[in-house]
Amino acid sequence: MMANHLRHELNKADWEIDIIDEREEHHYQPGYLFLPFDIYKPEDIIKSIKEFIPKGVRLLTDQIEMIDAKQNVVKMQNGDQLHYEILIIATGAKIAPEEVEGMKGAEWQKSVFDFYTFEGALALRNKLREWEGGRLLVHITEMPIKCPVAPLEFSFLADSYFKHKQMRDKVEIVYVTPLSGAFTKPKATEKLDHLLAEKNIKIESDFAIAEVDNANKKIIDYGGREISFDLLVTVPTNKGDELMERSGLGDDLNYVPTHKATLQSLAYENIFVLGDASNVPASKAGSVAHFEAEILTENILRFIKGEPLKEEFDGHANCFIETGNGKALLIDFNYTHEPVEGSFPFPGIGPLRLLQQILINHMGKLAFRWI
Ligand SMILES: Cc1cc2nc3c(=O)[nH]c(=O)nc-3n(C[C@H](O)[C@H](O)[C@H](O)COP(=O)(O)OP(=O)(O)OC[C@H]3O[C@@H](n4cnc5c(N)ncnc54)[C@H](O)[C@@H]3O)c2cc1C
Repeated sequence: MMANHLRHELNKADWEIDIIDEREEHHYQPGYLFLPFDIYKPEDIIKSIKEFIPKGVRLLTDQIEMIDAKQNVVKMQNGDQLHYEILIIATGAKIAPEEVEGMKGAEWQKSVFDFYTFEGALALRNKLREWEGGRLLVHITEMPIKCPVAPLEFSFLADSYFKHKQMRDKVEIVYVTPLSGAFTKPKATEKLDHLLAEKNIKIESDFAIAEVDNANKKIIDYGGREISFDLLVTVPTNKGDELMERSGLGDDLNYVPTHKATLQSLAYENIFVLGDASNVPASKAGSVAHFEAEILTENILRFIKGEPLKEEFDGHANCFIETGNGKALLIDFNYTHEPVEGSFPFPGIGPLRLLQQILINHMGKLAFRWI
């Protein structure tokens, strides 16, 4: 997004734009939600990154070893060094199951799975195809996580999936969260708690996990509370890339301290941060990165001209929540405003409806893979 915006705005004779990514393939991460339920196939999710690179932008495929922010240099694994005038960090967030004792133990990918990685979602698909039922826990380790609604969507889709396989009566679904309700925002929580109850999904709240006991197949929290499972689908701790730790640029979870309204790094004025890599208190979602990119483009152009940056990013997030049976909810909120009811993107016209479970919202969610 940034390369596309900036290549249009910046003179080619004055500005070179490089993108460095360690992967050759772009993964459409929202698709990981659909893979376990055989709704998407691997080829629906993975594309070559090259397809997305605009003309006049160079793509370098390598891991970044280190950012030397004092010298304005990026060091790559192959030994190359690149000098920069402006650096945009967009290294995202990834799962760190090793943060919880026993999570990546003997049962990992046997009866303990994640769906936040391609490998995890695929292994879970294979497990679900043959699973005969029992107690399924859908679990969040700690916040913040990417797409905070994805585990709820997983629970709703699991309900539909097992109904479709005519084995819903053989599966007990329990939603286990460190929060005190289904979501971080009270208004949406009310609606989502109700939906969980309607679909006979139990909720275990305020659960701060300390350990996965592989031998006895249970999770244990810091207060000694225990919940047993036959199948545990967990969202492990999410962290920024270790590159931030190596470069001295990250906080405790390797997120980059960032001004929440300008998206400039708090430590270096020529570094900007987009998407999941920052520590801004917005949701970690593709929609957020999209809204950020508009403001960040303007601020980078201002920075180049020596003008003051605009404090305009308001934490705008927009999430489709799959509720199963071909329907979805849509929520829209920001740093200060709770999700509201109404229509989106055009007030009064829609066509999407906020906080309502309807088919058109589901179509909207599916359309995003193409967009
Ligand atoms: C299961 C799931 C469902 C989701 N559903 C939704 C949804 O419905 N709606 C929504 O808006 N969002 C959703 N998201 C969140 C969305 O995918 C992310 O918020 C979005 O991808 C963030 O974009 P990003 O550019 O910040 O990071 P990423 O897309 O994660 O990109 C980071 C890039 O940095 C590269 N990289 C990292 N470290 C290095 C390094 N050291 N050297 C070189 N390259 C490096 C990686 O290879 C990667 O290509 C979902 C996420 C998951 C996991």
